[in-house]
Amino acid sequence: MTEMRGKVYLVGAGPGDPGLITLKGKECIEQADVVVYDYLAAPELLGYAGEEAELIYVGKKGGDHTLSQNGINALLVEKAGQGCVVTRLKGGDPFIFGRGGEEVEVLIDAGIAFEVVPGVTSAVAAPAYAGIPLTHRKITSTVAFVTGHEDPQKESSNIDWQSLASGIGTLVFFMGVKNLDHITTQLVQHGMAPDKPVALVEWGTTPRQRTITGTLGTINAEVAKAGMEPPALIVVGDVVGLRERMKWFETRPLLGKQIVITRARKQASGFLKMLSDAGAECLECPTIEVAPPPSWDALDKAITGLPDYDWLIFTSVNGVTFFFERLFAADRDSRALQHTHVAAIGPATAQRLMDFGIRCDIIPENYRAESVVAAFEGIPVAGKKILLPRAKEARSILPDELTRMGALVEEITAYVTKIADHNVETMLACLENGDIDCLTFTSSSTVRNFKRLLPPDKFETLIKKTTVACIGPITAETAESHGFDVDVVAREYTIPGLYAALVDHFSAD
Ligand code: SAH
Repeated sequence: MTEMRGKVYLVGAGPGDPGLITLKGKECIEQADVVVYDYLAAPELLGYAGEEAELIYVGKKGGDHTLSQNGINALLVEKAGQGCVVTRLKGGDPFIFGRGGEEVEVLIDAGIAFEVVPGVTSAVAAPAYAGIPLTHRKITSTVAFVTGHEDPQKESSNIDWQSLASGIGTLVFFMGVKNLDHITTQLVQHGMAPDKPVALVEWGTTPRQRTITGTLGTINAEVAKAGMEPPALIVVGDVVGLRERMKWFETRPLLGKQIVITRARKQASGFLKMLSDAGAECLECPTIEVAPPPSWDALDKAITGLPDYDWLIFTSVNGVTFFFERLFAADRDSRALQHTHVAAIGPATAQRLMDFGIRCDIIPENYRAESVVAAFEGIPVAGKKILLPRAKEARSILPDELTRMGALVEEITAYVTKIADHNVETMLACLENGDIDCLTFTSSSTVRNFKRLLPPDKFETLIKKTTVACIGPITAETAESHGFDVDVVAREYTIPGLYAALVDHFSAD
């Protein structure tokens, strides 16, 4: 029997920002049986791998190789030899200082099929995110990628410093932080002006990106002062001068802020994207999990009796989602609501209803139960039947007030919320190290649950330095009563409102 042969995809993971992988690269991760990845490949990309895929970390941080290059080569041959589809995920582009060429040679020798999927190299991406175009028609028309890793003690260099110093407009050095002194000295010795602009970009395209600029004469002192570490790129040339006008990534309002998101994972993605786009590094620590109720009987019965209700009021996106899940499970659709008025507590809930083709009859001005009550002031509800599908633990103000106005309110449990504790260890370690800039609370239950996750004897010290931000006054009140000092309260009680308040707060720093 012939041995089944797999295939190796050598994929460029891009420079760090997970959005900078190619579509083809993403497909390779999705289809892999085995993903072999470096420390420079964005960890988020592993999320594209199938549940069954084997993920193997092979390190490769300057000097600290979890697996030697020979070990990596052998691993690729072994896994592909077993018939696996292997995606070898490498930082940046696999053929630019990534030893991709060596891996391919080994595959050819072993007779293993392969493909190369180029990636966005850090040499291009990090300067771009630092506001430095590598070429510019008025400034330079040549650029060179150079290794900065060469041992300065080596007697004869493979690098033609003379040509670099005199013949190329823009130089980009990889792996050069530790050799910065040697690099700048060589360039000046070979005739480059000491006032030639230089930039170092550390952790380019990630929320940790930092850029330091200077000249060949000053950059060593600047970098030492700033304490820059690999991975970083060194850019030498007049184009560095464009950064002052063109920088954009590092001027985003939440750059580098570490923000904890406590809302349920399913709901966190919109908020997470807003914060990340503004430069924040988010730590998801969902304190709530949304789950179906112990029994669907009540909701199913209400759905069967829908024509009897005059109003249907939704107070959360989850309420809408579970309601329609059961409606569809009963082989019915949105037309079942044609004789019922519908109200939502806020825009996100109303939007979720629109996903199912239902336009609300009322959306209150303010996103809290009190405002729903106010919105009903002008509407004759006396004697009307109102259905309220919502969370088991929801506040009672809405049913109480509507009942006071004479309505016949029926509250139904459409879902329950449970305490969750994902990522708690990481979050506690970050809090302890003082790495967390901000905790965000999007409901009173996120506050209560989060508090339970903190060891009581350490509570004060853990949260002392952290900004606490709440979606609205009710959540803020709960937070205060649980011992948090609330620094930010959204003016509009929505996720975009909370985002805007955070931007205001951190821009004022
Ligand atoms: N194949 C990779 C380079 C690997 S060599 C690529 O195409 O980008 C490793 C070096 O790349 C690091 O020492 C550093 O100089 C550079 N590098 C990789 N990612 C970087 C990043 N996000 N920011 C700055 N430099 C980076």
